[in-house]
Amino acid sequence: MTDPVTAPRSSQDPYDIFIIGGGINGCGVARDAAGRGLSVALAEMNDLASATSSASTKLFHGGLRYLEYFEINLVRHALEERETLLKAMPHIAWPMRFVLPYHKDMRFEGGTPASRILNIVMPWTRGRRPAWLIRFGLFLYDNLGGRKILPGAKTIALSGTAEGAPLQPQFEKAFEYSDCWVEDSRLVVLNARDAQDRGATIMVRTKVISAARTGDLWQVMTRDNQTGETRVHHARILINAGGPWVGDIIQGTVRVNSTEGVRLVRGSHIVTRKLYDHDKCYFFQGTDGRIIFAIPYETDFTLIGTTDADHPDPNVKPECTPDEQDYLLNFANGYFKQQLTSDDVVWTYSGVRPLYDDGASSAAAATRDYTLKVEARGGAPILNIFGGKITTYRKLAQDTMDKLAPVLPGLKPHWTAEVPLPGGDFPVGDVDRLIARLLADHPFLDPKWARRLIRAYGTQAWHMLDGAPDKAALGQDFGSNLTQAEVRWLMTREYARTAEDVLWRRSKLGLRLSPDQAKRLDEWMRNA
Ligand SMILES: Cc1cc2nc3c(=O)[nH]c(=O)nc-3n(C[C@H](O)[C@H](O)[C@H](O)COP(=O)(O)OP(=O)(O)OC[C@H]3O[C@@H](n4cnc5c(N)ncnc54)[C@H](O)[C@@H]3O)c2cc1C
Repeated sequence: MTDPVTAPRSSQDPYDIFIIGGGINGCGVARDAAGRGLSVALAEMNDLASATSSASTKLFHGGLRYLEYFEINLVRHALEERETLLKAMPHIAWPMRFVLPYHKDMRFEGGTPASRILNIVMPWTRGRRPAWLIRFGLFLYDNLGGRKILPGAKTIALSGTAEGAPLQPQFEKAFEYSDCWVEDSRLVVLNARDAQDRGATIMVRTKVISAARTGDLWQVMTRDNQTGETRVHHARILINAGGPWVGDIIQGTVRVNSTEGVRLVRGSHIVTRKLYDHDKCYFFQGTDGRIIFAIPYETDFTLIGTTDADHPDPNVKPECTPDEQDYLLNFANGYFKQQLTSDDVVWTYSGVRPLYDDGASSAAAATRDYTLKVEARGGAPILNIFGGKITTYRKLAQDTMDKLAPVLPGLKPHWTAEVPLPGGDFPVGDVDRLIARLLADHPFLDPKWARRLIRAYGTQAWHMLDGAPDKAALGQDFGSNLTQAEVRWLMTREYARTAEDVLWRRSKLGLRLSPDQAKRLDEWMRNA
């Protein structure tokens, strides 16, 4: 099955912008640029979001811990973005409360600027992170970034409460604050879809194998990974959004000089069956000064992560190592009453952060902010993207366009703030109302199924169901109400090609389907 809209146009016709990489940064830039009327092409060598952008902790957050590194600008911009993004995608993103249990022996991450200062002015704290400092951090967190929708921080008692119930009794009090959840891989796909709806050409399973300047243009050669077909495209500007491969693309694909480097830092997560019965997340501080989250996940599961480990080669597939798994289990066992073992782990995933190499001593200390470098000495410009967070992708895209404005005369102004992504054209907090409407219009759905569809597709759930009067009209059920109609939608509208794309990135139904069901889906998709 092919999507005619994604077919590349004539190779003689130069694009304004050619983007390498279909992670969140590439797709975010494609959407922003296409919405300003520019002609845009994007090539992704695997599936959209197949690398880092499906392996995050999935938070739109300011990053409370970065305050201790005095990364005030990063935290402020990220905090400001939370509500802007929430309004544009109230289906795939939602507010979350975070419970930070307090214990007097909690320690700083080794050598953060805040801990160094505290060691000088209050040496008796000996590396401990005092309660007043956390309260001050949360005060900043509440007030740095123009919060209107999200409730503020407060102190809560844990004894005898739902929040305290799964925790060991030594945790008697906690701080509670707000951040947001986002379905990271759906965010990427919806940006790509919106970019395409605004005129961009999105090519998946298409690797950029070389790019060279020919006068004022880039000549970009791509190879279709499925057919082996190569194609030449021309573009005025090249954007390298290769994430972990940003350095490889500079050195090997484009062969331009650059002094900038990338530091690849692996982060792994484990998923267990649901560990507690409320909808808040936990923010745990460890004896090593690091922090991890435990987050309600996909209704029946708990997500725990993450780690920080250097991962020098982007071509080595990141995987949660046994050591990382043990580390996360031990960390969580310091808090939960239920003692977890490797038998409780139902799934793991791992991704590589493509951080800007700022020469930091440890992986945890390397900056999470992004750096955009334009290089135009040899003729047509290239812009390389280093670092960034899911949370700052929209701002990164906007800043990318600002950086390119001198070479794009007449560039239209910023436009993406709060403009809904496909299916997100409804008010924040209206999900339950939408679910009730979908159930009323399609009485054969059950509430769990309707919730999944609204959370995935928002107002587009109606288009996906296309007026089906009963379940039979949606075709076969591959398991967990994943029907033929939905898979067809994902193939024609969301670039899915394989069962893995559907089960682990367009949805997380991989947690529910058996290997046999997944195989049946894969076979059906191959022949569709
Ligand atoms: C463990 C972990 C937890 C995180 N948690 C959070 C969080 O909670 N909140 C948050 O805001 N951020 C978080 N982040 C950061 C965030 O996930 C990343 O900054 C972001 O996903 C990077 O996106 P990207 O588009 O730059 O890279 P990627 O998503 O890796 O995309 C780059 C793409 O380029 C493609 N590519 C490379 N070379 C070529 C080529 N030659 N031709 C065609 N395509 C090519 C790759 O296949 C890849 O898909 C986390 C990161 C990790 C690793």
